[in-house]
Amino acid sequence: MSATTPTSIARFHHFLALITRLVDIAPTEAELLSQARQCLQSLISHDDWLLPEFAQPHPQHYQQYLLYADPQDRFSVVSFVGAPRVSTPIHDHTVWGLMGMLRGSEFCQPYSRMSDGRWVPAGFQIDMLPGDIEAVSPRIGDVHKVWNALADQVSVSIHVYGGNIGQMECNSYREDGSRSKFISGYANITTAHEALLHPPPVAAPPAPLIPPVAIATPDPSPTVAPSVVLPVPVSDATLPTSPPPSNEIPTQAVAAEAPHPYAVTSYAHIKAALLAKEEIALVDVREEGPYAQSHPLFAINLPYGRIEVEAYRRIPRRDTPVVVYDNGEGLALQAIPVFQRMGYSQLSVMQNGLAGWAAAGGELFRDVNVPSKSFGELVEAQRKTPSFSAHEVKALLDRGSDMVLLDARPFDEYQSMSIPGAVNVPGGELVLRARSLAPSPTTRIVVNCAGRTRGIIGAQSLINSGIPNPVCALRNGTLGWTLAGLDLVKGATQCFGEISDNDRSKAAASALALLFRAGVPRVEQATVKQWLSETDRNTYVFDVRTPEEYAQGHWPGAISAPGGQLVQETDHFIGVRGSRVVVYDDDGVRASMTASWLAQMGWQVAVIKDITSQDLQSKTAVSEDELPLTLAPLTVVDPPTLKTWLANRSNLSMVIDVGDSTTYVKRHIPGAWWLLRSQLAQDFSRVHKANRYVLTCGDGRFTLCRGRVAAPATPWCRGSLVAWRQCCMASCRL
Ligand code: FE
Repeated sequence: MSATTPTSIARFHHFLALITRLVDIAPTEAELLSQARQCLQSLISHDDWLLPEFAQPHPQHYQQYLLYADPQDRFSVVSFVGAPRVSTPIHDHTVWGLMGMLRGSEFCQPYSRMSDGRWVPAGFQIDMLPGDIEAVSPRIGDVHKVWNALADQVSVSIHVYGGNIGQMECNSYREDGSRSKFISGYANITTAHEALLHPPPVAAPPAPLIPPVAIATPDPSPTVAPSVVLPVPVSDATLPTSPPPSNEIPTQAVAAEAPHPYAVTSYAHIKAALLAKEEIALVDVREEGPYAQSHPLFAINLPYGRIEVEAYRRIPRRDTPVVVYDNGEGLALQAIPVFQRMGYSQLSVMQNGLAGWAAAGGELFRDVNVPSKSFGELVEAQRKTPSFSAHEVKALLDRGSDMVLLDARPFDEYQSMSIPGAVNVPGGELVLRARSLAPSPTTRIVVNCAGRTRGIIGAQSLINSGIPNPVCALRNGTLGWTLAGLDLVKGATQCFGEISDNDRSKAAASALALLFRAGVPRVEQATVKQWLSETDRNTYVFDVRTPEEYAQGHWPGAISAPGGQLVQETDHFIGVRGSRVVVYDDDGVRASMTASWLAQMGWQVAVIKDITSQDLQSKTAVSEDELPLTLAPLTVVDPPTLKTWLANRSNLSMVIDVGDSTTYVKRHIPGAWWLLRSQLAQDFSRVHKANRYVLTCGDGRFTLCRGRVAAPATPWCRGSLVAWRQCCMASCRL
């Protein structure tokens, strides 16, 4: 086994291209198995392409990692990893499959069913060594049991199946003939990842390897193991001479840039602008997955497919210097015309893309929300923020200790998975509401999030506010709780309640003191309006109250950014470095706490003072009224009509969902295809042929901007999934 390199990973890409072409031809199963075997043989003859994260064993059972899923579910490729002594039950696959041994050794025992229903070993036990391949299918024999043959070595085999094996219902058997159905799933696919089961198809040149990173997920929790406390800077200067493959910089080799008509900005220029705190938006236009693998610290992620929907909110001023880059995919050059059409005037591409940045000495960082997460680690290190492990907190809970566990994440995140007994108090609300939730000064307050940052910042916020209670963070949040073998609950609903005026006053006084200590000015509304009218500065105005309060009425032009999330996701909310940030609330607590943290992170921030309910009357969300016009007229279909269309088999309609993959996985119109919007033109041929195509997405916004789609000569329509659900949920079982 040697470290992966771009060249060795290309080996896997080539394999995917070959298998894709093979299933395109749709030969007989025997021909397919024969030819696919040769492809797999070539792939596993080299042990230098499998990323280490896909070869991690579990001590008790096999781990199955999804390496690739065909967009049409015609085949999937997985790594199958076994710790010493682990075994599978007797099981089947229900589709054709090829298992090639890459590393270590496995025993494979085929089984046959007797006339009385019992399953018995059939034939010899097969000793699989590296390079060996076995085939299964319902036609040639599909039931077997597998176990690691070595007591001291992890086994890794590469499997190809004729379907999306982790999502398929298979069967496990006991020798007495009894049967259980199971769906194996994937060790590297969480809810947030599941949409990767439909990644872009492999074409020539082959599609990229799909890495196990979060795509289009709002979950800002760390994607690293909790033992890794800091985002990992990776640069030529900091890499050890033999870096572990997982730290390899996923950049292309620096190549001469193809000629293009756009301005080019060098690493040196960008660095100088950042150091001088000049306004600049450094925009990574790749999808979130590759962005999370490697990017400059202060780059924001605005994928090519989301530019029209997000750019005005994240980069308000049209003459902001905007530098876009990719990693050689060509997306940057495609993004420039989109920004141009939206009115942006100071556009350039980063010289030689991501590889050029690294080659010029720029550091690259892994993960998302890196500036905020790094700041959280700095706070913990500097302020010695106390924290308890999951087992320590569990012991306190079991003993019935006088304590409250406050979950500092947004409500939807809390609802998806939380610690039993935790009360949801999003981070920006903590100082305002903790006194009411823990009225006795001896009650211990434990703050948790999904990982680290929001728990640390939340706990330190309470400590800084002078609350008398003992306060600590839950170390590594719900992730640490799970890794400790403890159970989480779904659908919890314990939320904060009303607070007394006395508690509000105490919280406001302490928050104001913190605001002054952080040197944050409080300004009149007129000052903010003056700032907003300036043509040479970007000014963001954030409403840091809850989204529900924002929806009831807010300051005109303000963006909803609940305080805790704003601190956690500065790169998402504030697209322009060097810009000016204004926050407000209506209680004097939440804005002050948020601003005190933003100031410590280096932002120029101010708080609007003396906001009254009369000032919070606007009900227009910024994103609603600032979508750019489409390049072509759109037909809009209402849900009942669409339902009729879909039922008409003689005039076939096909729905294409171009929303975010996470939402698609949670719910979508029956039969809808999910395509990455940025690759619609390339991937459209994969969609079943139809007489009519209907574009949709989670909230209908993406589909307003279909202008750059190379569409067939059929009507394109738009339907909002929200409306569709309201009208048809009962009958369509979304
Ligand atoms: Fe198997």
